[in-house]
Order: sequence, then structure tokens, then C-alpha cells
Amino acid sequence: MSDAAGRMAECCRRLADLGLIAGAAGNISVRLAEDRVLVTPSGLIKADLGSEDMVEVDLAGEVIRGQHPPSGELGLHLQILRSRGDVTAVIHAHPPVATGMSVAGQEFDWDVLPEMVFLVGRVPVVPYGAPGTRELAKLIDPFIEGHDTLILANHGAVSMGASLDEAQIRMETLEHSAKIVFTARLLGRVSHLSRDEVRRLEGLRPNRDRSRGLLDGPAPGHYKPPKES
Ligand SMILES: [Zn+2]
Repeated sequence: MSDAAGRMAECCRRLADLGLIAGAAGNISVRLAEDRVLVTPSGLIKADLGSEDMVEVDLAGEVIRGQHPPSGELGLHLQILRSRGDVTAVIHAHPPVATGMSVAGQEFDWDVLPEMVFLVGRVPVVPYGAPGTRELAKLIDPFIEGHDTLILANHGAVSMGASLDEAQIRMETLEHSAKIVFTARLLGRVSHLSRDEVRRLEGLRPNRDRSRGLLDGPAPGHYKPPKES
């Protein structure tokens, strides 16, 4: 279909190889033009997708071209692409360690590693919404502006970027960092970077003018997990 489609198929394989998605889970979208988006199909094993499997839709979600139905999370992708003109690609995956922290009711420590501050930024936890629903697309809405990566409580994560490479780097960095944070928590102590260092790293972010200051965002503790049952 296009170079973008081939690159999306490659990204799906990479996400599967890294264990960030399993089976038919996960989805990717790439903006082709102002009102044209290429998205992965619903239901198929993502690691096996070819470029011909991608589905072209408009920003209202109408299918323009494709042999399969579009991703069940199309609403979430379009919500982001409609709100953020600077975003060209969106990845939704189920990174096990980053997602596991939300299952444990824990927030993500974003200010402990330089690459997290520089490449990913603050990662809010979006309250749980059933996958593939309008409710989930609505729940992410307040978090889209000023964040490039989100954790969806008890579900997975979303990363976005000015290119598919950028979105992929953010998703991979998120999970890699989650493993490091998880290790630190197991060892019994998480040490944070100084506020000055976070500010300095933030200043190096490519889209720092758009991204909310890490130290100026919602206070840690904004995420209230549901009570244990
Ligand atoms: Zn999902």
C-alpha cells in the first residue's frame, strides 16, 4: 500500500519480538495526510501482518481502503490524531512491566532515568476503561495534551510521536525503564534525579515547547487505583 504500511508491519514484528504485544493485541496508526490515516487491522496476529493488511481510514473513522476491519482501538488513535497536529504516529501495546505497575496500583517513576525524561517524559496513568470503547477514548482525552506516553490502567500503554520511529522509541524506552524501576523497587529503594537535572534534561527534549514541564504537571498521586477486591 505504501512505505508507511511496510514500516508499520515491521514495527508490529519488533513489538512482538520484544514481548510488548501478544497475539492479536496492540495496534499502530500513522497519519498519511491531513484526513488520511493508516491503521492496523482488527483480530489478526500482529507479528504476521504484511503491508497489504493495513487499513486506510479518514479522521472520522470511515474506511477508505482495506481488506480487513480496522483496529478495535481506532477511536483511541483518532482521538489522539485529531487533538495533536504534531503527532504522526500512535502505538498501543501491552508492555508487561509498565502495565503490571498499574495492575499493582502503582504509578510510574518517570524522573529516575535520563532517557525517560529526555525521550518519554511524564507518564500519567489513565483510569481503566474497557478496551475498544468510546469510554476509553474519552478517558484519555485530558491526558493527550502535554504527554507523549500514557499508561492505561489494567490494560497497556500508548505512545505517540512526530514519526513512527519516535513513537516506537518511546514505547521501547517505557518498558525498558519500567524493568529498571521494577528492579530498584525489588531492591528496596528508588532514587530520583534532582529537580535541576530533570529541568536540564527537559530543556533538551525535541518538543519541549509543547510538552508540559515534568515538574509542573499533576502532582504524583493523581492516580487512584480502584480498591482491591
Ligand atoms: Zn489493548
